[in-house]
Amino acid sequence: ETLNKIIDIKGTIRVFCRVRPFLWTDKRRTPEPILSELDRVIVTSSGSRKEFGFDKVFHQEANQEDVFVDVEPILRSALDGHNVSVLAYGQTGTGKTFTMDGTTVQPGIIPRALKELFQQVSSDKSFSYTFSMSMLEVYMGNLRDLLASKLAFRANETVNLNIQTDPKGSVEIEGLTQVEIPDFAKARWWYTKGRRARSTSWTNVNEASSSLTRIVISRRGDTPEAKPKISKLWMVDLGGSERLLKTAATGQTLDEGRAINLSLSALGDVIAALRRKKGHLTQILKDSLGVGSKVLMLIHISPCQEDLEETICSLSFAKRAK
Ligand code: ADP
Ligand code: MG
Repeated sequence: ETLNKIIDIKGTIRVFCRVRPFLWTDKRRTPEPILSELDRVIVTSSGSRKEFGFDKVFHQEANQEDVFVDVEPILRSALDGHNVSVLAYGQTGTGKTFTMDGTTVQPGIIPRALKELFQQVSSDKSFSYTFSMSMLEVYMGNLRDLLASKLAFRANETVNLNIQTDPKGSVEIEGLTQVEIPDFAKARWWYTKGRRARSTSWTNVNEASSSLTRIVISRRGDTPEAKPKISKLWMVDLGGSERLLKTAATGQTLDEGRAINLSLSALGDVIAALRRKKGHLTQILKDSLGVGSKVLMLIHISPCQEDLEETICSLSFAKRAK
């Protein structure tokens, strides 16, 4: 039953691709194998030429604003009552965190989305809205509540959070901190706090862990009969995407040590139309990947010759996801 529901997501998934610019840290600047056009990426290597189609491609010079302009419509769907997931996917170092969080001078999708939500509702006269926010991290099958107050002092502690699905199919994470965000200033304050609580002190953990931000939107009409509508907006940075690809490709069985792979590969397969088992991420996102919900996949790739193998893997994954 759930399977059928999730298979229905075909058609509500949009897939974008963002090509990271060359950085001064890219030691060797071998001739560029990647050519990006409006809606496709062309990879040329050792005489062969491969084409990958997307709903939209952001070339190396595209800035944060360019990306956000195309993400913004999906935010409106969240305000209209749809569950929405924005997922950043790609090899480590390709710019997932840059796209989702960005920097102070070049803010990414999450801070822009927070601002945009408040801006949009301030001009909406037919409904009133309330927003609340949660942030968590998934690593090796563990969940970390990034807005929990005790985590401010014990940054690397994991908490056992229980994932529940109610009879209506709505997913709840028991015990997950959910804070009210009455305005943008408060939202930014909590978001900054959540970012600081991420496992930044362990590079490996940081790279392999996925970071999730959830905004729960509750909308009320001005008449008493109008039922309040609740929707979720998930913004997810899928760390360790390359491991997912390897696991998915070889189809190997997974042990405890590869729990993160399980989560990620399950998510990947959900989107690919679902063959594999459940993992934390899939469970958490289940009601936001199903029928009536909208998914935006942002595939990130490197411009470097040295990364070509992973790049082709990511581009091929995108093909499956659509
Ligand atoms: P990931 O999260 O996928 O591992 P990051 O977001 O950490 O990758 O990006 C790796 C590095 O590249 C960071 O220093 C980041 O600032 C830089 N970077 C990524 N994308 C861009 C971009 N579009 N423009 C400028 N710098 C970028
Ligand atoms: Mg990152």
